[in-house]
Amino acid sequence: MFCSNCGLELNEKQIHKALERDAKNADSVKYLSNALVVSKKYALKLKLNELKKELSKEEFNSKKQELKNELNSEIAAINAKKKDNDLNYFKSVLNINESRTNNTSDYFVCPRCGKLVKNNLDENDIKSLARAGHSEIHRGRNNISSGMCALMIGIILAIVGFMFLALSFKATNGGVLDTTCVEFYVFIFLVLFALCLLVYSFVSIFKGKNKIKRYELLLRNINNGAFHQ
Ligand SMILES: [Zn+2]
Repeated sequence: MFCSNCGLELNEKQIHKALERDAKNADSVKYLSNALVVSKKYALKLKLNELKKELSKEEFNSKKQELKNELNSEIAAINAKKKDNDLNYFKSVLNINESRTNNTSDYFVCPRCGKLVKNNLDENDIKSLARAGHSEIHRGRNNISSGMCALMIGIILAIVGFMFLALSFKATNGGVLDTTCVEFYVFIFLVLFALCLLVYSFVSIFKGKNKIKRYELLLRNINNGAFHQ
């Protein structure tokens, strides 16, 4: 399951954790009001994306201002309810008291972006998920290039490090390795640093490749209509 806002893939364990956290905070007015505000803002974002395609620039700007003012007054109302500690209001708006059945869709707060996530996606959610998928692929490419960069620097540092190792065999010491000289410490430092870089580079290349594979599959599934009910 994916968060349609940021594209985070949630496994069963994470979903369970998020649901548990939400359940634990079900009586926290602060938590519920934050969730509500975030989901209202998200709904506005989706709506604006839609309107941008339909309206001319002037129409869009005035409509945008109008919707923003509307949202601000809604948020003000939510904040007033928050101030009044009106727990029942938030519970009813967010359907917290709905008893769970087999058909209940899971609603919970995304651990990464804080938006309300649900498992049955509508048309807007799917569009937004596709967008999020594209940016995840972009992030994966960035991971790979920073990994490659670290790999190159790591290799160069390792080579320089071994040069210092060669310098540690002092002629004054009869050509024997001198482990107390400065060159030897530089060698140790450089090789350790290079090792860290190499580990980092392999991890990020692997992560990036994985991410690209996963989200390309997701986009393919979206294009094939696997997410449409
Ligand atoms: Zn998210």
